[in-house]
Amino acid sequence: MSTIKTIAFIGLGNMGGPMAANLVKAEFEVTAFDLSEDALALAKKNGCATAQSVAEAVNAKDAVVTMLPAGKHVRGVYGGGDGIFASARAGALFCDCSTIDVQSARDVAGEAEKMGFNMVDSPVSGGVAAASAGTLAFMVGGTDAAFGAAQGVLDPMAKAVIHAGGAGAGQAAKICNNMLLGITMIGTAEAFVLAKKLGLDPQRFFDISSNASGQNWSMTSYCPEPGPVPASPANSGYKPGFSAAMMLKDLRLAQDAAQASGTATPLGAEAQALYAMFDSLGGGGTDFSGIIQMLNGDLTKTENHS
Ligand code: NAD
Repeated sequence: MSTIKTIAFIGLGNMGGPMAANLVKAEFEVTAFDLSEDALALAKKNGCATAQSVAEAVNAKDAVVTMLPAGKHVRGVYGGGDGIFASARAGALFCDCSTIDVQSARDVAGEAEKMGFNMVDSPVSGGVAAASAGTLAFMVGGTDAAFGAAQGVLDPMAKAVIHAGGAGAGQAAKICNNMLLGITMIGTAEAFVLAKKLGLDPQRFFDISSNASGQNWSMTSYCPEPGPVPASPANSGYKPGFSAAMMLKDLRLAQDAAQASGTATPLGAEAQALYAMFDSLGGGGTDFSGIIQMLNGDLTKTENHS
């Protein structure tokens, strides 16, 4: 049985805020720290205690959860004279749920291990709605012992907690999955654009392709063409969901990892270039499936939610 009762939560933005609220609901004592006063005020409303610094938040806590924008923030918050490593109690558990580059995840986890802490990288699949509902999927990198310790902390925020492998494996799984998602979304969107140009009714094409070898998640669960999948963002003006800017961030991380490991990922590179173009045309704040409007040559219909 888990002995973790007290948790420091660092980074209470769009995702971290509702995640911390779910830990409170699961009866952990949660102490929040964020640079934003507004984020802290909301955390307080959701039942968290608040701290004025990282050091104060993590002091004597059983576990620390971080949900930060990028690798440089994670390195900054864990390292340094008043960071998590310097201020946490001996043997504390750290779960970094941010989506960051694989190398930063491995470096920070290596430091944690040297200092006798248990650490996992545990990025999530699922957006703000899943964070609020406690139905995120966590992809976890770390030792068996660290994974075992982390499960009790992650469970109240999750529909699934999956052990991907050693340190950095959670980040590796996340960016490989999202690279594939970006590619399949563009491919699915291109197929609908061409089908329509060839005179096919989109619903008829969906009925055929979703039962044929072109079938994939971007088509059957998140169709970029309005109509065939009622719950998909295509039917609500491409309101995210998962924004194109977030997809671009993950595609860039995948390309960084591909270059660092000497791996050729030409479709991943092309997906990154296309999402960068969509972003530069003002699509960053729309759902990532909205890229179909750029491929249609019809960006004037795109509602920009940024
Ligand atoms: P966000 O920008 O809303 O929140 C980040 C929070 O971190 C902010 O409140 C910011 O003030 C805080 N912060 C930054 N530096 C800090 C520091 N040094 N100390 C304390 N707080 C600090 O971002 P988000 O949408 O919540 O995303 C967080 C992470 O989750 C990112 O890595 C993102 O890629 C990933 N993610 C997001 C989504 C999504 O749909 N939003 C989905 C999956 C994964």
